[in-house]
Amino acid sequence: MSGNESRLQAIYQITNSETIAVETPEPLNKIWASDVFNLAKMEESLSKNAFKAIKKTIQTGEQLDSATADMVAAAMKDWALTKNVKFYSHVFYPMTNITAEKHDGFIITNPDGNAITEFTGSLLIKGEPDGSSFPNGSIRTTNAARGYTAWDPTSPAYIMQTDNGSTLMIPSVFMSWTGEALDKKIPLLRSNDAMNKAAQKVLSLMGETDIATLNSSCGAEQEYFLVDSNFANNRPDLLLAGRTLFGAPPAKGQEFDDHYFGSIPMRVQVFMQEFEDQLYKLGIPAKTHHNEVAPGQFEIAPYFEAANVAADHQQLMMTLMKAIAKKHGFLCLLHEKPFAGINGSGKHVNWSVGNSTQGNLLDPGDTPHDNLNFLLFCGAVIRGVEKFGPLLRAVIASAANDHRLGANEAPPAILSVYLGDQLEKVFQDIKDGKITTSASGGVMDLGLSQILNFERDPGDRNRTSPFAFTGNRFEFRAVGSSQSVSGPLVAMNTMLADSLNWIAEKLEAELAKGSDKPAAVVTVLQELMEQHGNVVFGGDGYSTDWHEMAVKERGLKNIPTTADALPALREDSVKELFASTGVLSPIELESRYEVYAEQYVLSIELEAKLVIDMAKTIIYPTAIAYLSELSMASSGMAEMGVELDSSVAKKVAAETNAMMTVVDKLIAAMAKHDFATIEEHMQFCANDIRGLMDEVRVHADLLETEVADELWPLPKYQEMLFIK
Ligand code: ADP
Ligand code: MG
Repeated sequence: MSGNESRLQAIYQITNSETIAVETPEPLNKIWASDVFNLAKMEESLSKNAFKAIKKTIQTGEQLDSATADMVAAAMKDWALTKNVKFYSHVFYPMTNITAEKHDGFIITNPDGNAITEFTGSLLIKGEPDGSSFPNGSIRTTNAARGYTAWDPTSPAYIMQTDNGSTLMIPSVFMSWTGEALDKKIPLLRSNDAMNKAAQKVLSLMGETDIATLNSSCGAEQEYFLVDSNFANNRPDLLLAGRTLFGAPPAKGQEFDDHYFGSIPMRVQVFMQEFEDQLYKLGIPAKTHHNEVAPGQFEIAPYFEAANVAADHQQLMMTLMKAIAKKHGFLCLLHEKPFAGINGSGKHVNWSVGNSTQGNLLDPGDTPHDNLNFLLFCGAVIRGVEKFGPLLRAVIASAANDHRLGANEAPPAILSVYLGDQLEKVFQDIKDGKITTSASGGVMDLGLSQILNFERDPGDRNRTSPFAFTGNRFEFRAVGSSQSVSGPLVAMNTMLADSLNWIAEKLEAELAKGSDKPAAVVTVLQELMEQHGNVVFGGDGYSTDWHEMAVKERGLKNIPTTADALPALREDSVKELFASTGVLSPIELESRYEVYAEQYVLSIELEAKLVIDMAKTIIYPTAIAYLSELSMASSGMAEMGVELDSSVAKKVAAETNAMMTVVDKLIAAMAKHDFATIEEHMQFCANDIRGLMDEVRVHADLLETEVADELWPLPKYQEMLFIK
């Protein structure tokens, strides 16, 4: 097939295909968590004592004895066998964003050659994948390339169904033989622990006596694009890089705003319903779905869960949505910016902390008593974002997310906190000393009543803020759509732990001086706001005024690229943060830096290679074919004595030559290997390589608007975005 034949055929296939019928959907109560070995199933199959022990482990993280582990393993296996499962796998989350698994059979044979099944506590608890090829920074030297996976009982095991059989999946941590974290789960669990310890201190100083373990919660809104596979299969860039490296803007983009919350195309709805039924079977509470701003863009948001479980579920969701979309003839794009000039995709990480005794500490609550706790926790977040803004920027940094941050459609690359008018005023008044305590130390008057009557206002939103308070939680809006939520959650939990530790120290000193609690809280928060209040910003995060003010007056950092952002992981303050809270040792932190930096370089180099390839082997030949058509036409006409205007041919020739000149420059740049440091290499990718790629694209996209449509082989934006 040549030229646009493949495009036309794709359009024909799409418009003539029928939606894929799903088996008759079953009622929610029948499918909910049917493939999950959750507490309810454990209670059915375990002895009372064993159930009590595992429940305690799940709820408090206390270690499980090996006898109980054996019983849980046996029960898990028996349950899985009733569902025709023959294999099991520890699932783990290496430092890259992927989900990893290694499958083992339950089967062993006995001396008579009969197959029996075996699954013991020790097999459940520990696996040993040949993990040497997972990126690990410099943690594992090759002579010690052993990695272990270990069962995380706090995240339930589940069955992954495929058409030909099913596998029991066991959420696990992944560590080196020396016990260093090689994954994203261990730091998340540790950060939750650190946050819990610090929060306990603050709450007891506030006079709370019954304080259950605190947990962070996460509800992640996931944005994504669906492109018909008939188109995607003709786009090597979409297939390999997940985004279009070429493509002229369509006549119609998103300027009509007619897609957002519009009616969902039938095919997409059929996909969503099958996807969500799968999620329900896996105990993932899918709650909201709708069209997003860009044509072809959608969102799904599950109901929030404990951060560790939510993070596992989020990974599983991303895996499933790609697989199920494929079945429905779509390529699901989780890339942060698949189409230039069209809104990109983010993942809004909604985050709060709480427990069963004090409830959600980021919920202002109804009583003054709750309010003081709320103000402390909210203040702790403000301090954290100000002090560790560059860390928050680093954990969301990726080659793909760089296209989004700061592009006036997604939050800017400056980390600030949005509180909403009312709350911002409360904190401002505290800072300005307007809310003071009476000398007698009694309950404060006037000023404080403002705090005590604080009402939450969930409707108040600021889409331009990267970090917004939304009534009873913070929403980290700058996270990229393809990223694991673990990195952001680790950073948020850990900065909160650090702030709560700081608050506990100050609070203790104030209380020791004899201040009553409200007075002590206000004094501590005043100091906090004096030092860190500059991060609070309620205005338009997209405006150039803010970009200037943030940097010049507020002392905040504007960090545009990953190359600029990642080195924050090497700063002393960040090392100290992670070491003092016990979340990451300096070696573990450094290894993350190395892995992320390498990933960044690799993804830009992959794209650069594709740009060279596509320019040379697809776009150049197309332009030449058109030129030869033009020249044939021109000489044919000349024979008839008609002179054809040659301006189009000249323009096409000029753009083609210009494109190939830049391609040569890009090839030369890619040959450079003598970088002294990884920082230098990252900067080279961010500036030189990316700059050249953009330049190639400018010429190629101009060619797309000049060359005859019937010759153009790459599906165009209007087709990919609008035909479903
Ligand atoms: P919006 O698009 O208006 O931000 P959505 O309803 O799409 O809101 O998503 C909000 C997300 O925040 C959901 O995943 C929801 O479960 C989650 N969420 C709600 N309350 C909390 C909370 N206390 N902690 C964490 N996440 C929460
Ligand atoms: Mg949101």
